[in-house]
Amino acid sequence: MSRTYPHLFSPLDIRGHDIRNRILSTGHQTYLARGNLPSDDLIAYHETRAKGGVGLIINEAARFHASTLGEAPDLALLSDDAIPHYARLATAVHRHGAKLFGQLSHSGRVTRRMMNGMRGVVFAPSPTPENRFHVVPREMPTEMVAEIIASASEGGRRYAEAGYDGVELMASHGLLFAQFLNPSVNRRQDIYGGSPENRLRPLRESLIGVRRAVGADIVVGLRISADEADEGGLDQETVLGICRQLSEEGLVDYVNTTLGTMSSLGGSIHVVPPMEIPPAYVADKAAAIRAVVSVPVFVAGRINQPQVAEGVLAAGEADMCGMTRALIVDPDMPRKAREGRPDEIRACIGCNQACIGHFHAGHSISCIQNPSTGRELRLPPSVPVVRRSLKVLVAGGGPAGMKAAVTAAEMGHRVILSEATPRLGGQALLAQLLPDRFEFGGLVTNLATELALRQVDVRLNSRVDRAVVEAIAPDGVILATGSAPVGSETEGREAGHVIEAADLLAGRAEPGARAVVADWRCDWIGIGVAIQLSRKGHHVRLAVNGICAGQNLQQYVRDHWAGKLHEAEIEVIPYARFFGADGDTAYFLHGASGQPIVLEGTDTVVLASGNAPDTALEHELKGADVPFVTIGDCTIARSAEEAIYDGVATTRAFLAQLAENVTSAVKGAE
Ligand code: SF4
Repeated sequence: MSRTYPHLFSPLDIRGHDIRNRILSTGHQTYLARGNLPSDDLIAYHETRAKGGVGLIINEAARFHASTLGEAPDLALLSDDAIPHYARLATAVHRHGAKLFGQLSHSGRVTRRMMNGMRGVVFAPSPTPENRFHVVPREMPTEMVAEIIASASEGGRRYAEAGYDGVELMASHGLLFAQFLNPSVNRRQDIYGGSPENRLRPLRESLIGVRRAVGADIVVGLRISADEADEGGLDQETVLGICRQLSEEGLVDYVNTTLGTMSSLGGSIHVVPPMEIPPAYVADKAAAIRAVVSVPVFVAGRINQPQVAEGVLAAGEADMCGMTRALIVDPDMPRKAREGRPDEIRACIGCNQACIGHFHAGHSISCIQNPSTGRELRLPPSVPVVRRSLKVLVAGGGPAGMKAAVTAAEMGHRVILSEATPRLGGQALLAQLLPDRFEFGGLVTNLATELALRQVDVRLNSRVDRAVVEAIAPDGVILATGSAPVGSETEGREAGHVIEAADLLAGRAEPGARAVVADWRCDWIGIGVAIQLSRKGHHVRLAVNGICAGQNLQQYVRDHWAGKLHEAEIEVIPYARFFGADGDTAYFLHGASGQPIVLEGTDTVVLASGNAPDTALEHELKGADVPFVTIGDCTIARSAEEAIYDGVATTRAFLAQLAENVTSAVKGAE
């Protein structure tokens, strides 16, 4: 029992399965499966979290019917041949004392399903248009619905035979069972449509079938959105009635609550809510369900710290907390919390960039703060010191340099981290100044904690040049000197009409009353600056050099901010490439037509431009007798994700090679 988190670390018994704590990794797509089956990578991913102390893992949605089969990196459970592959995953998770449930899912109309580059045939309860993937599905024949219900039972049986502890049916997020439940989607006239009882029939009969198939010892649970948070989506009252009935009938052993729907842009923001949404914001809705059911209730939704989860549990709002991203960023979070080391936990900042962001881009999930996630078997190994530790100088204390220093120290080397300014953090310090994005600064806090734990020699106000390198005489130098805005060669700059977003955020420049943000980046910065200026009373227009504001952001983040821009009545001008400013006019070219876009009544243009690498030290060290490597933005400006990845992967590879060279030289001299 943990004294700090007594509720979080109390066990939970469900149908005789003793779950060691209340920390849950909810079902989430990883794109780590191969051939629709658990791969070595997926097994390593979950095993790492089981080892870190999570109580319960629910593996991602496995498709249980061919009509919803996704691409190879999605899981499926369509034949008994799959059972041994799932059994390997179950064995790996159980080895470390965690429990494992498996999700069963059918997407119905909510799908971007592609086969060989072509859109697939999509079936749903009714041909009701879907608002996110732009699908008008075919109506499922009645006999197909019966077949799908039977397939769910088969999927459940396969999980049970693979050694899983439980099976979870997904009726959440506007997926197939939710589509049947929803009268604005389900317009059927047969036994699966019309009355509430008929609309519940597919889910109810599937739960009965799964129970029959798995026997009495396996947990059977339900995932459902407590509210789909969308016009035309399932509302809270309807969901409460469904949960109450299924609980009273003894058809579910637990209810796993979430929010939102995948079938609309606004509703899908809640699938993986970004940092702009407050922590544990679904807890009150879970509590409402808990009040009408007699089984444990799970809840997810920005529960990113053990103290947040403890609060939810202590308040009696839920019985278990989904902390999926908290585990993605720090698989050892449960163990650290239980051992009374909460300060060592690397907290999720809700950026969505490399977890759901990678998945949406068709890549295996990872984490901007933890490059090992999704690459458990792939990163260069952390080779410990063998003969003697090296003296390593890291030049630059942004995310890349901080992570490189931590990585080098973890390998056993003596590290000096020199930062030219008074503070560590680099551009992350500016990013956290954008509206509602202060949590981004958590990335710097997390890295600073890691530096302190490894007792790295951090030197602030300490610019590195060739003379400094020669004085320190390190075995190797890691250059992490960052980048600076590339700006724009434009008319108007010298007259004060054009300023940099970075200067504005840092308080080094003041805009006038009527500003245009020239957003070349199409990420957070242009949007954030526009919102900030609007909140301060400026008239703002946002001219983006792309198809929409936030084009390069993860979709849920982008859409959250699209809503905020609309609420703030900020005019967004797409396809606008900045050309220049003159008097009270800003000039752009339309990115497709090449025609001018003239924005009169503009007294300031705020540039959200790209960055160019700072290569000064790299040039200085060329020819010097010291090995060095560049990482992060001073190689090429990208994002914090690549900076931190370099800080781990490039640093490990560089130091392993350096150690080998030093060892060879010493041996040669002996
Ligand atoms: Fe959290 Fe961002 Fe990592 Fe995703 S990528 S787990 S949101 S820190």
